[in-house]
Amino acid sequence: MSAFAKSIREANEALGRKMCASFISNGYKTARYAATAEEAASMALELIPDRCSVGVPGTVTVREIGLMEKLAEKNCTVYHHWDPTLTPETRGARLEAENKADWFVTSSNAMTFDGRMVNIDGSGNRVAGMSWSLGKILYIVSVNKAERDLDSAIARARNSATPPNVLRLNLATPCSKTGQCVDCNSPERICRVLTIIERAPLGRESHVILVGETLGY
Ligand code: SF4
Repeated sequence: MSAFAKSIREANEALGRKMCASFISNGYKTARYAATAEEAASMALELIPDRCSVGVPGTVTVREIGLMEKLAEKNCTVYHHWDPTLTPETRGARLEAENKADWFVTSSNAMTFDGRMVNIDGSGNRVAGMSWSLGKILYIVSVNKAERDLDSAIARARNSATPPNVLRLNLATPCSKTGQCVDCNSPERICRVLTIIERAPLGRESHVILVGETLGY
């Protein structure tokens, strides 16, 4: 590892461990720091028991760390709506299954240093799961998504998370050309529901794994 990479890793770890304390203080049952994607996947597999059901909404991070495949190896039933075999008729039931699973495993568009999650959705299913999925909730979020305050976190969700997401979906919003948000009124706008999770929702267990490697959008 180069000296530059080492110093970035150390800075991420210092911030990540400090933020874990913030999440615990905000009501999360566990909050752990993983230096690598591989460590993050191992920590998630320690939390999620064999043979349970797991809902995975639209998240690049969870897919990037290979967790979907590893959960299947534990005989977990994974529900996700990026399944290309879904039809318009079957998609709704799958979205519902995601939010009713034993575990809801997601990332976040942004988070604040003091432990608040900030997310923007188009249809709202992912942010609904963050606040009202029926099972336990696990966030896996890379430390590069951390911002000092709410304004910066919302700006990150719009300017850093959304343009690549729009390009992934082949949408013709202005940010697909500019690479930054212009607060558009496009019919294809995917910024429609903004949520701030200030504390872990009541009545269910919530967990956080912060990751030192850059993941997702
Ligand atoms: S509001 Fe429009 S321009 Fe801004 S990030 Fe969302 S889709 Fe892109």
